[in-house]
Amino acid sequence: ATPTAVMVGTGVGASQGVLIKGGQALESAHKVNCIVFDKTGTLTIGKPLVVNTRLLKNMVLREFYELIAAAEVNSEHPLAKAIVEYAKKFRDDEENPIWAEAHNFESITGHGVKAIVHNKQIIVGNKSLILNNGIPISIDAQEILTEIEGLAQTGILVSIDNHLTGILAISDPLKPGAREVISILKSMKIKSLLVTGDNWGTANSIAKEVGISDVTAEAKPEDKAEKVKELQGSGLVVAMVGDGINDSPALVAADVGMAIGAGTDIAIEAADIVLMKSNLEDVITAIDLSRKTFTRIR
Ligand code: ADP
Ligand code: MG
Repeated sequence: ATPTAVMVGTGVGASQGVLIKGGQALESAHKVNCIVFDKTGTLTIGKPLVVNTRLLKNMVLREFYELIAAAEVNSEHPLAKAIVEYAKKFRDDEENPIWAEAHNFESITGHGVKAIVHNKQIIVGNKSLILNNGIPISIDAQEILTEIEGLAQTGILVSIDNHLTGILAISDPLKPGAREVISILKSMKIKSLLVTGDNWGTANSIAKEVGISDVTAEAKPEDKAEKVKELQGSGLVVAMVGDGINDSPALVAADVGMAIGAGTDIAIEAADIVLMKSNLEDVITAIDLSRKTFTRIR
């Protein structure tokens, strides 16, 4: 394609909310035959909601949420925001609650948070965070988790003073049209994969809903990048679509990194293409635009 055609291509992209950072990105997009999708905030809306609380110990729900909100209010994670939002419902000062002070706050990327609130040790996060802290998970608790994951929801475990005290079920539905996008990509001979930091149960349930059969779960940021490189090693031209800090190594490693516009600044910086409207359909818009630009003039 001529430099003018590339300029026109990027211009058309911009007018449709697909920000293409340079000619190389536009060129690479038409060769893509494999797309790795992040889950939370990419395939899903990214505005998770607490839909259920399963208490394992005798405790007042309001007090339970006081403790975890005080810890989670220090985290930027979408799941943390969902938990704090939900906890507000138990307060009279719902609009502007002041949470208890959290001491020794720790955020463990891809796992959860720890803090001391009202002299109690609070741990909120996934199964491995609980197990890594030496807290046992009973068979009953495991059954509840499996049930939650089967519904494509995320189970967040809460430990208070080293006892598993409750499990929150958090739901983050698929973006409208997600299933259709995956099916259109398939018809374009582009293979879709799911790579997520979330657990295997939830990941498999979401993958099934959206029509993806290749899943990697419990992936750390470097695992996501590693997956991209592995696919490239097998001869595929790989695009990565993600929104989080944890996606940025994979966005950089991919032949084409595509960031969701509503995502974090770090992901947007790491990407070659930014989907400003945060629509999954624009993954197809970007590839179409590249195909048109690079097959029109030969
Ligand atoms: P994803 O790849 O789906 O965006 P992350 O890598 O950010 O997910 O997180 C992986 C998992 O770690 C989450 O599904 C959740 O179980 C747990 N987690 C991470 N941060 C938090 C937090 N602030 N509070 C509770 N759980 C968390
Ligand atoms: Mg994400």
